Amino acid sequence: MLNEQKEQIKKKILEDLDSLNQEILELCEKTKPIPPDCCLGDLRFEMMHEQDVFEKVLHEAQIRVNKLKYALSKVDKESYGFCMECEDEILFARLLILPESLYCTECASGK
Ligand SMILES: [Zn+2]
Repeated sequence: MLNEQKEQIKKKILEDLDSLNQEILELCEKTKPIPPDCCLGDLRFEMMHEQDVFEKVLHEAQIRVNKLKYALSKVDKESYGFCMECEDEILFARLLILPESLYCTECASGK
């Protein structure tokens, strides 16, 4: 991989981390416990259901943050950009969309 491409990927990782951190902040707001005296009955039930959904999204966002940080720490290493399964080079276009990719398109799609 060219240095220029690595720089592009690093930039993309940092951008993604930025927007994820923003998203996580918003989700943390939304998953705060509902005060017991606020909203009763159906509305409360609905809010709790919504929070469940937000918590899942939050959890996924946190996982992606970790993956991106890991990718960022690896991007300068020789092994970055190679599929962990077949050891082929992962397409640059794929890495640019999903910099945390550990597998090539073929292996990731489950063969
Ligand atoms: Zn592969």
